[in-house]
Amino acid sequence: MVDVRGVHKSFGPLDVLRGVDLQVRTGQVTVVLGPSGSGKSTLLRTINHLEKVDRGWISVDGELIGYRRSGKTLHELKEKDVLKQRTHIGFVFQDFNLFPHLTVLENLVEAPVAALRRPRAEAERTAHRLLDRVGLADKAAAYPRQLSGGQQQRVAIARALALEPKVLLFDEPTSALDPELVGEVLDVIKDLAGTGTTMIVVTHEIGFAREVADTVVFMDAGVVVEQGPPAAVLDTPRHERTRAFLAKVL
Ligand code: ATP
Ligand code: MG
Repeated sequence: MVDVRGVHKSFGPLDVLRGVDLQVRTGQVTVVLGPSGSGKSTLLRTINHLEKVDRGWISVDGELIGYRRSGKTLHELKEKDVLKQRTHIGFVFQDFNLFPHLTVLENLVEAPVAALRRPRAEAERTAHRLLDRVGLADKAAAYPRQLSGGQQQRVAIARALALEPKVLLFDEPTSALDPELVGEVLDVIKDLAGTGTTMIVVTHEIGFAREVADTVVFMDAGVVVEQGPPAAVLDTPRHERTRAFLAKVL
């Protein structure tokens, strides 16, 4: 499970996260909604230690992220240990971030070979299986630029899966896509949800949240304002700020 406790993060004078608590149980899907600037991306980035927290802590499957505890004090992990932790926390970005000079297959094989020390043949077998799973079995030899945005994003998801993540973090995975390509990416994420992948998805796709999320979290101004089952948060929000936000996006 992902456990975020009392997390604070500032950039200079700007308090971006102001005491965030969030628990995501293994196999569950949490969708995070909230206005621009509310701290959604920053929250995701603290979970894989791309941003250091100022206060509070985060653990994934019981393992503290970025630190090790000895007695009452926390010691920062060495960079190589941070990288090791990050390997198992998948991150899917808005703009795909594929390696442009590598084929689709190589994009999926590179990290398991380098970071997990998988034999190349095994990593390739896994890559083919994952490409099949995201509906791109026939694109293994293509380069990213030869694919549509939706296809590239599905490759990015397969690439994240190749590292056997404990949790997958998605930061607006469909917002850079043409509208007609959004569905194919959401379908892949929905399929993963059905197989028990633990996920935190920042998105403005309310229909997706309603259908796929176990929990919907509404963030505003650096705090979790409200959270609960999709129907509760989306249909009968308890807080005025949630109502105001939903009135704008629905
Ligand atoms: P959006 O919906 O627009 O993606 P968001 O909820 O993801 O918004 P964040 O990207 O987390 O919001 O940003 C929250 C605030 O923190 C913004 O005001 C942003 O400008 C600021 N911010 C984020 N990263 C940095 C940084 N590295 N340095 C300074 N300010 C930052
Ligand atoms: Mg963001």
